[in-house]
Formats: sequence, C-alpha cells, structure tokens
Amino acid sequence: MELLPEDLSDEAARLDGEDPLAHCRDWFVFDDPAVVYLDGNSLGRLPRRTLAALNDTVTGDWGRGLIHSWEHWMHWPTEVGDRIAALIGAAPGDVVVSDSTTVNLFKLMGSAIEARRGRSAIVMSRTDFPTNRYIADELAYVNGMTIRWIDGDPVTGVRADEVLAALDADVAFVALSHVEYRSGAILEMAAITAAAHGIGALALWDLSHSVGSLGVDLATCNVDLAVGCTYKYLNGGPGAPAFLYVRSDLQAELEPSIPGWIGAADIFAMAADYEPAPGIRRFLTGTPSVLALAAVRVGVSAVADAGVPAIRAKGVALGEFLVRAHEAQLAPRGVMLGSPESSVARGSHVSLRHPRALELCDALRQRSVIVDFRNPDSIRIGMSPLTTSFADVWRAVEAMRDALGDARGN
Ligand SMILES: *Cc1c(COP(=O)(O)O)cnc(C)c1O
Repeated sequence: MELLPEDLSDEAARLDGEDPLAHCRDWFVFDDPAVVYLDGNSLGRLPRRTLAALNDTVTGDWGRGLIHSWEHWMHWPTEVGDRIAALIGAAPGDVVVSDSTTVNLFKLMGSAIEARRGRSAIVMSRTDFPTNRYIADELAYVNGMTIRWIDGDPVTGVRADEVLAALDADVAFVALSHVEYRSGAILEMAAITAAAHGIGALALWDLSHSVGSLGVDLATCNVDLAVGCTYKYLNGGPGAPAFLYVRSDLQAELEPSIPGWIGAADIFAMAADYEPAPGIRRFLTGTPSVLALAAVRVGVSAVADAGVPAIRAKGVALGEFLVRAHEAQLAPRGVMLGSPESSVARGSHVSLRHPRALELCDALRQRSVIVDFRNPDSIRIGMSPLTTSFADVWRAVEAMRDALGDARGN
C-alpha cells in the first residue's frame, strides 16, 4: 500500500483550483465563511436568486396580481415537474411537484396497491428511511397485506438477488430508496425494477438522495413510480414540496389515492363527483404551495445549469478525497467507513462510524463544522457538489482528528 501523506491541505487546494464547478459556490449565500457545512443532503444551501424570486412572487404576483396570478401559478407544479424530469431521465409530463415526500409515498403506494388488488405482499428494505417504512406499514395494515422486509448489508445496501429472492406473484410492489440515506449505497435500479416486472409487480423508487447529485435514468430502467425531495440536493428550501413520477403509460390506469379537487379533470366545474385529470395532474391534491414552488424553481435551475454529469463527477471526486483523508487521519483513530468503498457505488454522502459519534458531532459543531448524526453511531458527511469544496472536506477531517485527539487526552 502506498504511504499517504499526513497533510492533504495542499491536495485540497489543488483539487479546488482544478474544480470546474468551483464558481457555483458564488450562486449561494455563505453567510459565515468560517462555517463548514456538510449537511447539504439534509437541507441544501440558500441560492442567492431565491431571495429575488421570492420577493417577486410575493410583491408582484401576490401583492399586485392577486388572484389573477393563479393563471400562471397553476402551471408551476407541472412546469417545475418537467424541469425535474430532465434531471432524472423522465419525459415531460411524467413528473409533478406537490405535497411532501411522505404524502407522495402514501399516494403512490396506495395507487399501486389498488392497481394490483388481490396481491398480498409489499417488498421493502428494513434499513429504508423511517417515513417510507411507516407509510408502507400503515397501508399494509389497512389493506390486510404483509411486508417482506429485506435485511440487506447496512454498508453496501440491498442487492438485486436479495430482492429477487423475496419476489413471487403475491407481491404488489417493491419500494426502495435509490441511494440509501445512511450508507449512501446506490441500489441496482435497472435490475431490481426488471425483477419486479418479471412477476408483474410495480417498482417504486425514492430519489430523495439521488436527484441533483447523480444521474438517474427512470426511462431506461423502465421505472413505474418514483418520489423525491426538493430541499436536499435541489436546494428548494426547508419543507419545499416534493415531486412524484408516474410512467406515462400508467397514468391513466392508476387511481389517485387522494382524490383532491386540484387533481380533478375540470377543477372549476365543481362537479358532484370526482373525475381524475387525464395525465400527471391527477396526482395533485389540494392548492399548490406557490411561495415554496417559487424557491424550488430556482434550486432546480441551479442544478440544471451546472449539469448533472459535472455534479456527479465532482461528487465522486469529493467522496474519493474524503475516503483518502479518512484512511490517512481517521481510520488509525478508530473511525470506520460506513459507506461502500468504491466511489461509484455511493451517492454524495459518506457515513463514518465511531462508538462516540454523537459526542464527535458536538465537538465538530464547536469547531464550526456541521455534519449529521445518525443513530446509533454514524456521522453523515454530506458533500453537496455545488456548494462543497475540497478544503471544506479537509477541514472537517482535521477537526474530527483533533476532536478525537482531545477525547483521548493528548
Ligand atoms: C429526506 C427523505 C424523506 C423526507 O420526507 P418528508 O416527507 O419530506 O419529510 C423521505 N424519504 C427519504 C428516503 C428521504 O431521504
């Protein structure tokens, strides 16, 4: 094994100097330059243009335009949906922005159960994000179904052959996260979707930790259904509405589980009975969150302007740099890698594990380094490619090394 230099600060400076996306940091607000923010996968940074966009929507559209502004606001859920579609390999008309990821999971899982009535099982991962498991659990309970939980490797994630082994003709759908929220492992979307289709089940993917950080190809993978967050790598702001995707040929077949008036065929007919809109609009529920959508538009266009391939290339480089720095500085101090070793097998976050992870996160915060603690022993380092520098990563590693040194009393 090659001997690693102890100090990688020159290396970080060189990588920042060569980074084609370095200028993208100027698109965002850096209120306190001393803060190293490695939590952009939980809440993305504030784009500067969001301030003006919100101001325009509030003072111009709302203040001046009043109710007339609904003429264009009404198109925002599908317009922003089309822009997100371009980031995830979907066609225009297949994505809509509405509600939270949680509510969209409920909506699409409900529709999938209805479309596969008579099938009694759902396949999911035991380590998936809590809300995904809770929603599936509840829907399974009220529909008299069971969940087949896959216990995948917590570091490398659920494999296609493990999903295949859980499948038979009783399965209505398989629901998984494309990038696991804890380990960052990327699951085999194409193979797992094909396996689900092999027994006539639907495949639902959660893109919360992939959209805006790596390429997703829903069309090529022939994915049926997907949901995802806009406040993580899409920098849409706290609580920004989520998106959902339904493959175009399924849209007419799937019954919306929340038959709200905004998803009705003729909204202002005020009809006695609900009739769903023909396309993706049927998956809207109530009145769209206009102010929040104004911010999502800006965040999505920042990702589109930088380009997903360049964003992914930087994400991979940041992850490789962190793993090298971990090997040099942290592994000898008892910190373990909780993510796949290969950069192409991970999204843009890396989990580091240590028995005193919570204490370490506090020590990092005191050193102005913001990371995420994930119960019980993980420190999640989110390297949102548009806003993270290699120097940020190095500073975090140094801070962790120093904190560990303190903890050992030297
Ligand atoms: C972040 C995240 C969510 C968030 O759901 P909300 O309804 O927006 O709170 C859901 N699922 C996954 C996999 C996530 O990473």
